[in-house]
Amino acid sequence: MNILESIASNVEAYPERTAYVLNAPDRTESITWSELGAHSDRMGSYIVQNIPGKKPVVIYGHKDPLMIASFVACSKSGRAYCPVDVSVPEGRLQDIVGEVEPDLVIAFEELPHIDCGDALVLTADDVARIAAGGDTIDLRPHWIGADDVYYIIFTSGSTGKPKGVQITRDCLDNFIAWGKTMCTNADEGYVFVNQAPYSFDLSVMDLYLSLSLGGTEYALSKSLLESMSTLFERLRTSEATVWVSTPSFVEMCLADPSFNEALLPRMRTFLFCGETLTNRTAERLIEAFPKAEVYNTYGPTESTVAVTGILVTPDVSATHSPLPVGRPKPGTIIRIVDEQGNDVPQGNKGEIVIVGDSVSVGYFHDEERTRKAFSTYDVDGTIMRAYRTGDEGYLDDDLLFYSGRIDLQIKMHGYRIELEDIEANIAKLPGVVRVAVLPVRKPDGTVRSLSAYLVMDAPAVVMDAPSETFTSKDAKELRKQLASSLPTYMIPKRIRIVDDLPVTNNGKIDRKKLATL
Ligand code: AMP
Repeated sequence: MNILESIASNVEAYPERTAYVLNAPDRTESITWSELGAHSDRMGSYIVQNIPGKKPVVIYGHKDPLMIASFVACSKSGRAYCPVDVSVPEGRLQDIVGEVEPDLVIAFEELPHIDCGDALVLTADDVARIAAGGDTIDLRPHWIGADDVYYIIFTSGSTGKPKGVQITRDCLDNFIAWGKTMCTNADEGYVFVNQAPYSFDLSVMDLYLSLSLGGTEYALSKSLLESMSTLFERLRTSEATVWVSTPSFVEMCLADPSFNEALLPRMRTFLFCGETLTNRTAERLIEAFPKAEVYNTYGPTESTVAVTGILVTPDVSATHSPLPVGRPKPGTIIRIVDEQGNDVPQGNKGEIVIVGDSVSVGYFHDEERTRKAFSTYDVDGTIMRAYRTGDEGYLDDDLLFYSGRIDLQIKMHGYRIELEDIEANIAKLPGVVRVAVLPVRKPDGTVRSLSAYLVMDAPAVVMDAPSETFTSKDAKELRKQLASSLPTYMIPKRIRIVDDLPVTNNGKIDRKKLATL
């Protein structure tokens, strides 16, 4: 069954079951499976009848139930959708809309002042009206096909412009088929905890496993996540069975001793992806939730959420430190290659290349960046797509271990960030001559914050002050200017003005030396 067939069958099987709940501090909003079916049919019919082309639809908002119905409506009407969370600043949103050139933008929150070209813009009220009473037509002939792009998720790009990863329905179906095998059976129905906004591919794990298993997607709004006491109150009544988050987020929860089986008695599965899961975190979870299974999974947005996974038992944790990221899912081959692209022997480190049936078809409208990262690989006569991850790792008895990045991409609090993306945006500010951004790491190697080192024109135009008198007020002004082009989590906490950036013998910025300044 493909994902749209699964959704249709769940609408039939569980009409009264809650399909989706948004939990905000002041309210909860939910829709049942039958409402999800009806709303998406009406929205899908509206799209087919009113939007002639098949361009991707940009969907802007934050976890509104009708946002999910709109995702499904796009798929039923044969369009890809591109989810953009409200936390994405105006400049980035403009870049995305400029790149996608959509015929339709659906905005669940007020759109910043951006140029949407000729696109029709539907507001939350418009969608509510269409979903409640619009006509319906038979959408089956319009459903998205196996090789069509199902969604486009934009991630940080080293040039300063985000890149749109295109995931086909087949990629998604192949991921789901494997992902479901990790979800321990929940007799009374699955309830998936959603932490990540829908513009991050980690959310695909909870949303689509829930949609395919006829579960309830229990979404936590950004503001709810800011208050641990309100968050825990909601978790207590969630009846959650599957937890999907970054390790960073569960570590925050584990800081409170009441995060245990008594709070979430139905919890059976923890799925982690996106950053290192430490032995300590896994062990604390196993202890706090003795009936639950903890999985470490690995993969980039470019290969549909995750392609390797491992059940972390006390034995696995006792015998492996760091923890492995797992074995490949069916349909995936992991290669470890040297700089020339040749396979290295087992046990040797190299770049992780993902080959298989969930690898993206490339970046939207970006042949150059697609060519650099994607290729094909012959597997016993079948040509498969391949993606060079930029991750370093090694295989031990076919078990994959992740050992860091070979470029300037980092993960901070679960967010994927290209340091060059931040640098490119800082370099655009007036008065900035050169810039380097460095991660500040905790003793365990995880990134705590970011520091930017700037060489400025004197006097520094951007801050009305020469570099010697750069103050915290100037840094604040600079951060304010950056906020229009970068999400808050990408804005460096510490900004230092330096006379020059040290360089290595081959003329590159000497990042090691810079860190010691
Ligand atoms: P994203 O595209 O946001 O999912 O980020 C993908 C990147 O996150 C990968 O290329 C890795 O660098 C990192 N990553 C993903 N899963 C893991 C994991 N289990 N352990 C360590 N790093 C991971």
